Amino acid sequence: MGPHKLVMHLRTTFESGKTKPIEYRIEQLKSLKKMLQEKSETISQCLYDDLHKSKHDSILMEIDFCINDIRYTLSHIREWVKPDYPATSVANMLDTVQVLKEPFGVALVIGAWNYPLQLVLGPLIGAISAGNCVVIKPSELAPRTADFLAKNLPEYLDRDAYQVYEGGAAETTELLKERFDYIFYTGSTEVGKIVHAAAAKHLTPTTLELGGKSPVYLDNTADLETAARRILWGKCANAGQTCVAPDYLLCTKEVQQDLVRVCRRVIEEYYGKKPQESGDYGRIVNDRHFRRVTALLEGCKVAVGGETDAGDRYIAPTVLTDVKGDDVIMREEIFGPLLPIVPIRDVAEAIRFINEREKPLAMYIFSNNTRDVDRILRETSAGGVTVNDTIMHLTVNTLPFGGVGGSGMGSYHGRHSFLAFTHEKGVLRKNLGFVGEMLSRARWRLRHFRYP
Ligand code: NAD
Repeated sequence: MGPHKLVMHLRTTFESGKTKPIEYRIEQLKSLKKMLQEKSETISQCLYDDLHKSKHDSILMEIDFCINDIRYTLSHIREWVKPDYPATSVANMLDTVQVLKEPFGVALVIGAWNYPLQLVLGPLIGAISAGNCVVIKPSELAPRTADFLAKNLPEYLDRDAYQVYEGGAAETTELLKERFDYIFYTGSTEVGKIVHAAAAKHLTPTTLELGGKSPVYLDNTADLETAARRILWGKCANAGQTCVAPDYLLCTKEVQQDLVRVCRRVIEEYYGKKPQESGDYGRIVNDRHFRRVTALLEGCKVAVGGETDAGDRYIAPTVLTDVKGDDVIMREEIFGPLLPIVPIRDVAEAIRFINEREKPLAMYIFSNNTRDVDRILRETSAGGVTVNDTIMHLTVNTLPFGGVGGSGMGSYHGRHSFLAFTHEKGVLRKNLGFVGEMLSRARWRLRHFRYP
């Protein structure tokens, strides 16, 4: 089906009201959960074929992540769909003031390749729970996972309401010419601007989940061993191809010296002497990205790792020292397993360094000095923050997850996913009775008395 016919078909379904009853939404979510449980092995294999993702990572960060999100949604959805009754003033004391939760209509979800399952199913869970119809456009750069979704989602979900549309930039461009009621995009900032411009033509509201350079600040009050383990786990998971991966690290020269020693040991403990032979270590998604990431190594001082193998698209977990703010590696999001350490003198310099750049998607602060932690939180901006760990803020389903400025707009996860796909419609139900009428006239007189 072409994009126009596809959207028209979903629009007809939406207008029939089929996707709105709460029982329908619950049934679809349960069916999606069933697919994830029944096809877990196949999904893991697809993720391995696309990204060399270990089974452990596939289950933890993709399959179970979505199952838990569905479970959480199922246990709260009945309370989320209820209208809110906000406080009113004396002026409306006889009226009813409500916020109704209305689905937008036909939504488009565009995903990235690095977590190719989670990044389309997460928004889909929100869209279903809010009562929308959805076109799902998975990334063409994770083709096995995209094919899995195209083949299996129609087996488990209502085809009249949820459809997978496969393709790359050309197909997405065609799709974006259609009028959607909501667009949820995950991917690079560059393409995010294209999507936003296309959405603007129809005044379609959007969530943009983009990337950026997420900094780590580490000081000498933090436990270096724990910090190194947590930073390297965040950096090396999926071979650094994680939107919230720590991108670069700010610390003093002294901390840098001690940290490098610990990093060498931790990497060996995680992936052995030869990470290329480890079943737990990923690969760069394609040759273009492999060339891009290895080019960033040029001219850098390699303290740990640095080995590459083009045939296998392998890049070793790598730590780079004495990196400067204007080095090439500091100009773009790395999206690979390279950790540049940028020496700074103190917390004030770290804050300046962060504020001179685009607002990042995530920020990580490793410190036991609460005053400095609070100061960084107060004086910088980021989509989200984890203190004394990496990535973990996105696993808290009561926290909004999203970017700010260059790293995106809007948020999701848990109730925030439901709200992302919901129009909160403010309704004032006036009282038509005698007392209400008298009150309304008194209010009118009062206004004219004050402002003749
Ligand atoms: P990408 O922007 O290349 O592609 C994302 C999607 O956009 C794909 O589905 C692709 O088919 C489509 N697309 C590509 N070019 C297009 C064009 N010209 N017009 C219309 N659509 C187009 O991004 P990517 O390489 O898949 O993902 C990597 C980026 O995504 C990184 O910057 C990363 O930080 C970011 N990311 C962000 C999050 C988040 O939650 N904020 C999560 C994962 C990845």
